[in-house]
Amino acid sequence: MPVYLFHCDGCKQDVELTHSFSEPHPKKHKGCGGKLKRTFTAPEIVYKGAGFFHTDKRLDPKPEVE
Ligand SMILES: [Zn+2]
Repeated sequence: MPVYLFHCDGCKQDVELTHSFSEPHPKKHKGCGGKLKRTFTAPEIVYKGAGFFHTDKRLDPKPEVE
């Protein structure tokens, strides 16, 4: 399951949510009811607990873009 990063306007916290590709992104933080905004930290999707994608990292080190 892919993990998406959100920032909650209600409690000002970064929230990690997991849902499948077919589901729409949640709009509200279940914990406090605040509005969630997508946070884009990296273009790739983070897979949690998966060992099968770790080869990505050494294939192509990302250039630093300011
Ligand atoms: Zn919240």
